[in-house]
Amino acid sequence: MLKLKNIQTFYGNIQALKGISIEVSQGEIITLLGANGAGKTTTLMSICGIVPPRSGEILFQDKSIQNMAPNDIVALGICQVPEGRRIFPYLTVTENLDLGAFLRTDKVEIKKDIEYIFELFPILAERRHQAGGTLSGGEQQMLAISRALMAKPRLLLMDEPSLGLAPLVVKRIFEIIKKINEENQTTILLVEQNANMALKVAHRGYVMETGRVIISDTARELMANDKVREAYLGI
Ligand code: ATP
Repeated sequence: MLKLKNIQTFYGNIQALKGISIEVSQGEIITLLGANGAGKTTTLMSICGIVPPRSGEILFQDKSIQNMAPNDIVALGICQVPEGRRIFPYLTVTENLDLGAFLRTDKVEIKKDIEYIFELFPILAERRHQAGGTLSGGEQQMLAISRALMAKPRLLLMDEPSLGLAPLVVKRIFEIIKKINEENQTTILLVEQNANMALKVAHRGYVMETGRVIISDTARELMANDKVREAYLGI
């Protein structure tokens, strides 16, 4: 579904990605692991066209997308849940969800999808008329995921969904990630510092270090890998 071939991305003179190659197949959950500054967020930003790569190629369903504008990339079905949630704080929960469906015209399906989201996250249904900014951190993360789902993405990019959340909420968020993948066949590329949780839901993963992919394997093998265990699982 998605192929990154030897991507190099810069911020001015700073080279954040030094030639990374990643593949994601339809229906997979793939996790990107790595320490702060490894280049995980930059990888997502390169895919969605916000920080386009200087060289290399990004193919989505065999179509080259590395020179496309971010809105055109969203229209292809690639949607991001950004780090720090970035919901619209002064809009209600329902208004935030409506904005997620901005590019869609299938009103009946949109209504059904809102109902589906309220089943996934009953707390959002209870708070549907409340301003996004008044929700707790965990609820805002649920809203950010839901808003992305309202675009009916084929590929969902998630940046640190567990950041700053209480353990019980983190567990719930990861259950939902698995459910979205299983029920809707949504392909997910997941950036996470919480390697333990990420490897439990992912099929495969890539470990990044200073702008390079240093290990790529199945989640099961990564969990057994000594370097991963020591550096990212704290075992
Ligand atoms: P984190 O978990 O801290 O977000 P990360 O693995 O996502 O880490 P990136 O945020 O992609 O890493 O950063 C990769 C490199 O690019 C780092 O050296 C970082 O300092 C640099 N970088 C990131 N954003 C910018 C920016 N806007 N301007 C300049 N350099 C940046």
